[in-house]
Amino acid sequence: MDLDSLFNASIPSWTSVAILLSFFTYLGFAGSILPGKIVAGVKLSDGTQLHYRCNGLFSLLLLVALLGIGVWMDLISPMAISDRGLELLSTTFIFSFLVTLVLYLAGRQSRDQGSSLKPHITGNIIHDWWFGIQLNPQFMGTDLKFFFVRAGMMGWLLINLSVLAKSIQDANLSRSMILYQLFCLLYILDYFFYEEYMTSTWDIIAERLGFMLVFGDLVWIPFTFSIQGWWLLYNKAELRTAAVIANCFVFLIGYRVFRGANKQKHVFKKNPKALIWGRPPKVIGGKLLASGYWGVARHCNYLGDLLVALSFSLPCGISSPVPYFYPIYLFILLIWRERRDEARCAEKYKEVWAEYCNLVPWRILPYVY
Ligand code: NDP
Repeated sequence: MDLDSLFNASIPSWTSVAILLSFFTYLGFAGSILPGKIVAGVKLSDGTQLHYRCNGLFSLLLLVALLGIGVWMDLISPMAISDRGLELLSTTFIFSFLVTLVLYLAGRQSRDQGSSLKPHITGNIIHDWWFGIQLNPQFMGTDLKFFFVRAGMMGWLLINLSVLAKSIQDANLSRSMILYQLFCLLYILDYFFYEEYMTSTWDIIAERLGFMLVFGDLVWIPFTFSIQGWWLLYNKAELRTAAVIANCFVFLIGYRVFRGANKQKHVFKKNPKALIWGRPPKVIGGKLLASGYWGVARHCNYLGDLLVALSFSLPCGISSPVPYFYPIYLFILLIWRERRDEARCAEKYKEVWAEYCNLVPWRILPYVY
């Protein structure tokens, strides 16, 4: 594709605007009205505690079912997304820019002159930013950080499904495409199945909503995490059976470590006495878990996530570095984040953190880092 056609393919059309707006409207309604477990978040640095409605899995399955009916009734094309990938990317980019601008302007008027740690529609946005009234901590509106990451993860699956439909239409469905699709599907379903665990992650408890989170969730997650799928649409990768089996192992080990570590921390935060790997947990200073995965390395969950990310790219073979964009990016991001998280924890837990570091010296990968 030359530069001219690349530019033309990136110009937003009204169809892409309509797709994007319908998606966000659906998410807004589904998120607020569909039933789901109400989960109390962790106490934030300002002492407040938010509540989240975890109905992401229901919202996702309903959306896929509705789209499936739409395709079956010939109302929408399954290639609606894969036929206009670049223009959807530029439309989402412009949308994210506008959202960031609104957040920036609202943040400038807020009491602390900055972006919000707990931006809520019908909640903190109005109260925190314009009236300065303290909310009832039990109040539950729509948390924008929770909403955006949900949009990103669902958008990723919708892109993948559309790419899959295109590869079937073009009669080039390969083993590699099936593996990539399967791993991503499991990862995304798992994310929504355990959506409540998200409420204790860094993005929700420590990151302020601004440029990084909005672009990260809305543009970065769906469009860069799906690069392998796009790549497989236009390139071939022959996988032997041994490579397929090895690839499945990388995914399964990574998934087990990733999910296991995040689950252990979440369970520990809710009940510090809960058994870890069948034994009473080793706890430091009554605050930090030092057994299970958290006794192996201080961020074993990052290791698991990196292995999973690698397993998404391995189906593409090693003929090109392009499909490895996601694991390389994630590697850089998680190393950087681990440093920031360490600094935050050292500041928050002081000598308790130092004791934890003595007991568990490895940051991510035992005996290496
Ligand atoms: P963590 O889930 O590791 O959360 C870090 C926090 O956990 C710390 O700030 C601290 O918070 C608490 N904590 C740390 N050590 C302990 C311990 N030993 N015992 C008890 N609590 C502890 O980090 P993230 O939110 O960054 O990551 C969550 C998941 O999301 C990871 O699996 C990560 O790989 C994934 N991720 C994926 C990304 C992607 O692009 N695919 C991007 C970023 C993350 P507190 O103050 O509450 O104690």
